[in-house]
Amino acid sequence: MPLLVMKFGGTSVADLARIENAAKKVQKEVDRGYDVIVIVSAMSGETNRFVGYVEGTSKLYDAREYDAVVAAGENVTAGLMALRLQEMGVPARSWQGWQVPINTTSAHGSARFVSIPRDHIDAKFAEGFKVAVVAGFQGVSAEGRVTTLGRGGSDTTAVAFAAAFEAERCDIYTDVDGVYTTDPRITSKARKLHKIAFEEMLELASLGAKVLQTRSVELAMRYKVRLRVLSSFEDTDENSGTLVCDEDEIMESKVVSGVAYSRDEAKMTLVTIEDRPGVASAIFGPLADAGVNVDMIVQNISERDYDDHPGAVTDMTFSCPINQVERAKKAMEDARAAGIINYDELVVDTDVAKVSVVGIGMRSHAGVAAKMFNALAAENVNIKVISTSEIKISVLIDRKYMELAVQALHDAFDLDKA
Ligand code: ADP
Ligand code: ASP
Ligand code: MG
Repeated sequence: MPLLVMKFGGTSVADLARIENAAKKVQKEVDRGYDVIVIVSAMSGETNRFVGYVEGTSKLYDAREYDAVVAAGENVTAGLMALRLQEMGVPARSWQGWQVPINTTSAHGSARFVSIPRDHIDAKFAEGFKVAVVAGFQGVSAEGRVTTLGRGGSDTTAVAFAAAFEAERCDIYTDVDGVYTTDPRITSKARKLHKIAFEEMLELASLGAKVLQTRSVELAMRYKVRLRVLSSFEDTDENSGTLVCDEDEIMESKVVSGVAYSRDEAKMTLVTIEDRPGVASAIFGPLADAGVNVDMIVQNISERDYDDHPGAVTDMTFSCPINQVERAKKAMEDARAAGIINYDELVVDTDVAKVSVVGIGMRSHAGVAAKMFNALAAENVNIKVISTSEIKISVLIDRKYMELAVQALHDAFDLDKA
């Protein structure tokens, strides 16, 4: 029997009417002759509510209990979806992560898949069940504890099931009708892409476009899963939405294909550090040990015999997710107290955002950075930190200019035009 994976995000299962709407889409595929694995998210707002409960109970919470609480939302939706399908006459059964079992690492809050054995679900299909509804976002560790995959993780559950069950396609149903040149909530000029290359989608996702979780794109790329993003609120067919695929399947090739942003950034500067071999390692070692995900890094020009400091000194600036600032501060203070590093001051700026342009065309085109900086200069947006890779350029700017910067870059690279 051909098999499809269909994933429904939080807004697509926000209430009983929407669950029914999603179930009708599933029924349609069953009627077409498919066995279907449905991956569901928690009803919209539920996961945030649970995270709030955990944080309201314990500041430095036990990550195992965090997972036990926040995984609950998906269990509810899985059961409700199976019930709704049964009401419609579709033989369906729900599965929580541990029942499959979805085996993961024990990195609570950001677990990774280890294996997804097929036997239990395959046996149910063999019995005549047409749909397996699986709770997204969760798994079980080797110690037998419930784990979660990180926010937005149901996308990754969907792709992992598509790979494990060799699905014909993995359809991600959400509240937009595809992947756009930028978040359509920021500019109405955003244009839907018919296709996007895995590598571009990977960059966009990791730079903040939350339409797909980064890890889901990585998995789809590795296991050659046909991945599609489409609307759960519209009538859809085989040509709807955006296909995430190999670069060579794409005819249209713009230098820049999309603009992404992330609000959740912070910038930290260590003022007056020694400029000698080993200093960067002395700073970023403790940050890594503390689990801080450092993103952009700049080291200023060295100055010799500055003020009362003998020898060369410099400043070091880096960015990290805003919710890791406290951890980063503690790591730096502890390292200074232990004599591993020395600095005069640690300056934290939490009013920053990251805006990035992405495109595989950048590999063979010069001048993208100049054009980006010109467009920002024309809007008087000051750039605080810059980082580049082969197919992206990111800048850190004041958060209040974020939307303006996204719109200016979208215009500058003519992304509204096909
Ligand atoms: P779900 O709950 O279905 O998983 P998410 O809220 O996680 O949905 O992701 C969908 C949202 O991603 C959209 O509502 C949109 O605001 C946002 N988004 C950000 N960047 C893009 C983009 N380039 N294309 C489409 N949507 C985007
Ligand atoms: N419910 C989880 C979250 O809100 C997982 C998901 O929706 O993908 O992050
Ligand atoms: Mg999501």
